[in-house]
Amino acid sequence: MERSIGFQIATNEGRRSPIERDMQAMVDALALLGVRRCSQCGQFFRSADSGALFEGGELVCYGCVPEWWSSRSPELAIAERHRAEGKLAAWLRKYHQAQVVKDPARVPDAQSCYIQLAAGCVECGGSGKLLEGERCRFCNGLGTVFVVVLKETGRAAA
Ligand SMILES: [Zn+2]
Ligand SMILES: [Zn+2]
Repeated sequence: MERSIGFQIATNEGRRSPIERDMQAMVDALALLGVRRCSQCGQFFRSADSGALFEGGELVCYGCVPEWWSSRSPELAIAERHRAEGKLAAWLRKYHQAQVVKDPARVPDAQSCYIQLAAGCVECGGSGKLLEGERCRFCNGLGTVFVVVLKETGRAAA
């Protein structure tokens, strides 16, 4: 009889190697203790620290967010992507001093940004118009704003 050696990717039937079962049990136990893990780098963070991990379907730590987002976002369907963008933008604004830039011409160049993303304007729901039909002043009627975390801010917060 052959036994599996070492790590084995969990199959659809849910079969896992003993080591994997142990690992999962440990991660579950840590979650009970208020510690959660980044799905990308495997580092643990306190759950109470809401700025440490972003919940984007999987848990991603602040340090892994830029890379994760650039590889993850093209895979999403448009509606799903907008939702995720809005959530990520709100999280970056709340915990990481992200700035909202209305004018596309004033978005800092990519080199000086820790992360930048375009997100639907929350004030007008992305329509560019307010209820009265006037142009939304929060996005200059574009329906989209740019959410930017500058590198210095990113480093200081990390
Ligand atoms: Zn990470
Ligand atoms: Zn708007």
